[in-house]
Amino acid sequence: MSNYDLATKCVQSGYKPANGEPRVMPIVQSTTYKYDSSETMAKLFDLAEPGYFYTRLANPTNDYVAQKICDLEGGVAAILTSSGQAASLYSILNVAEAGDHIVCSAAIYGGTFNLFSVTMKRMGIEFTFVDPDCDAKTLDQAFRPNTKALFGESISNPSLQIIDINMFVKAAQKHGVPLIIDNTFPTPINFRPLEHGANVVIHSTTKYMDGHATSVGGCIVDGGNFDWNSHPDKFPSFSTPDESYHGVIYTEAFGNAAYFAKILAQLMRDLGAIPSPHNAFLLNLGLETLHLRMKQHCSNALEVAEYLQNHPKVKWIKHPGLPGDQYYERAREFMPEGTCGVISFGVEGGREGAQGFMDNLNLAAVVTHVADARTCVLHPASTTHRQLSDQQLAEAGVSPDLIRFSVGIESAKDIIADLEQALAQI
Ligand code: PLP
Repeated sequence: MSNYDLATKCVQSGYKPANGEPRVMPIVQSTTYKYDSSETMAKLFDLAEPGYFYTRLANPTNDYVAQKICDLEGGVAAILTSSGQAASLYSILNVAEAGDHIVCSAAIYGGTFNLFSVTMKRMGIEFTFVDPDCDAKTLDQAFRPNTKALFGESISNPSLQIIDINMFVKAAQKHGVPLIIDNTFPTPINFRPLEHGANVVIHSTTKYMDGHATSVGGCIVDGGNFDWNSHPDKFPSFSTPDESYHGVIYTEAFGNAAYFAKILAQLMRDLGAIPSPHNAFLLNLGLETLHLRMKQHCSNALEVAEYLQNHPKVKWIKHPGLPGDQYYERAREFMPEGTCGVISFGVEGGREGAQGFMDNLNLAAVVTHVADARTCVLHPASTTHRQLSDQQLAEAGVSPDLIRFSVGIESAKDIIADLEQALAQI
């Protein structure tokens, strides 16, 4: 599907029925697959022949949907995970082990920050967090000889900072490590990191991709553009035999899909964070309209942001699509079709003001969610980011009064009317 437009890929990539097969992607709700002989099965286990044998490793429904996301991002292979958290974890575990180090943007989702700074630290992998708006020299100085990856969010949740993709790509290339981008907020409809030189893209598909709040999920896309063989000292596990998998050498056996194959063969086999095929089916329904929804999210968000910008009770507002925003020019350059539907802002009264205002909303629901067809709102400092210290909050771009407002695809007029009445009460 590589020559088709994004809209066509959203609708048709992935599952392609053969003659007489169902037009709609089937849900292969089966953990296992039958073969006529043990010998055939043995070849599958050796990865000598392609084929399904156990759903923890691969499942047709999951694979069709991963292929669609792969096509949208322009990668060489992709795999679904049970959550965005699992995608973040695997994307790092695939290149780093105890004793290694990762450079990471400080402006990331609170759950990712905790995963990296607490849980993965306990596993012996150390992270250095850098301000994504730092200069090239500061970014450069964060690297160490044992650094194995550079990680960042294309548009950060919830601080809405747009990454300087060129600076991050250059730093990763200079230090011979892959650049891993969490592209959840813009989705490939608005930004495709691989086209700019990133090497791996991950998603929380729970957000816009599903879009209807039905299924937690994640995805990892291998860009196929990192030469593991030219860094054999840093990444020996790609170019030397994997004794845990019959001595397979990933770069030899799988070429430019070595990163993907290693996740599948090692991490899925051993840790098993797969989605249910039924969830993959629901995700696919979301993906079929992703291009339409993103357009509506972005235009609604701009209308709402313009309204909030002019409201006397709104102290500050951030939305990268809003002219005058700190990231507006970068958004125009790298995301000319739009950014995302999320806005952050503060109202009179600080933290208490934020909570009181949110309680007054009717159409917009207070939920632990973002990037949904329905408008929703959250106070990160007391929820998703509550485990962060004040200093960590500041580094992540989250002020105590920050309201994260995720504009849905309802009528912008109705969303604004809801904001109007809620603001009038504070
Ligand atoms: N990455 C980003 C940018 C997110 O916003 C989230 C969740 O909000 C995650 C990763 C984690 O995804 P999940 O909740 O699907 O595990």
